[in-house]
Amino acid sequence: MNQRRISKSIQIGNITIGGGAPIVVQSMTNTDTRDVMSTINQIRELEEVDCELIRVAAPDMEAAGAIREIKRGISIPLVVDIHFDYRLALAALEAGCDGLRLNPGNISEPDKVGTVARAAKERGVPIRIGVNAGSLPKTADPQLSVAEQMVEATLEQIKLLEDLDFDLIKISLKAFDVPTTIKAYRSIAEKIPYPLHIGITEAGLPRTGVIRSAVGIGTLLYMGIGDTIRVSLTAHPREEVIAGYEILKSLDLRQHGPVLVSCPSCGRTEVDLISLAEEVGRRLETVKKPIKVAVMGCVVNGPGEAKDADIGIACGKGRGVLFRKGEQLRTVKEKDFVQALMTEVERL
Ligand code: SF4
Repeated sequence: MNQRRISKSIQIGNITIGGGAPIVVQSMTNTDTRDVMSTINQIRELEEVDCELIRVAAPDMEAAGAIREIKRGISIPLVVDIHFDYRLALAALEAGCDGLRLNPGNISEPDKVGTVARAAKERGVPIRIGVNAGSLPKTADPQLSVAEQMVEATLEQIKLLEDLDFDLIKISLKAFDVPTTIKAYRSIAEKIPYPLHIGITEAGLPRTGVIRSAVGIGTLLYMGIGDTIRVSLTAHPREEVIAGYEILKSLDLRQHGPVLVSCPSCGRTEVDLISLAEEVGRRLETVKKPIKVAVMGCVVNGPGEAKDADIGIACGKGRGVLFRKGEQLRTVKEKDFVQALMTEVERL
């Protein structure tokens, strides 16, 4: 794995992004921002699964104004997503947002961007320049590849902000196409010092969207690129946060709750291993300890294959063996598999 690119750090509320800080997991609400209670409730649900930064859309003045009240009901920093109308950004700043996201594809006029940057600077609020392949500025050069057009649009907007002596900048260049996204991030990472928010945009339904995001985000992280991640899924945003941590855990970049190791089962398996692993997975959802738990389908290979698990069960016919770090603890009856495993998890 490549060494992490060291970026300039910025502060969004009490969260540090870049400069070698742990990679931040973020998400975006899908409630109507004007519906303050629903939005607060959804953000609180996300806080429960350790979402560290939340973004809300502000499509009109009422939504931008609602930020003040939403902020009072939540504990994590809040970024406001602005398209088309720079005055919404000013209203969101006025209402106390911790960060802004602007899309250069629909707000790029220097005077408007300048007005927002000056107001953000007064309050020490960072701005993410969020370029999307689907909404590139009209001035983009069609001779260039999509990735190059994204990079050009980003550099132009950065120059605009730097000319105003504004450097609380974060960057994203997202596409649905994974190779385009990777190409764009690799290119920009060499050209600028600012922290990068990475993700694959409109990645789809959870089953395919998580894979698409894991391939894109995972590849970039493996290259040392990325300071904060958002998995975008057509699902409850809780799924995005869970997937985000799973990607980081897969690369050993963050620890977060348990890891479940379970074998695919085979002709040696004599229990309903899929149901058992699903049940253990459900029970582990509320466990916060960074432990490795194994559910294996046979006693012959199970304990050895999962010997680095902190606790595991290897299932035989009607009975199974509980093991810790590859060492056998005791034999348990099939009806007690889940309970015995969870008791050991609590003891760890
Ligand atoms: S651990 Fe045992 S049951 Fe599971 S796949 Fe391997 S050999 Fe088959």
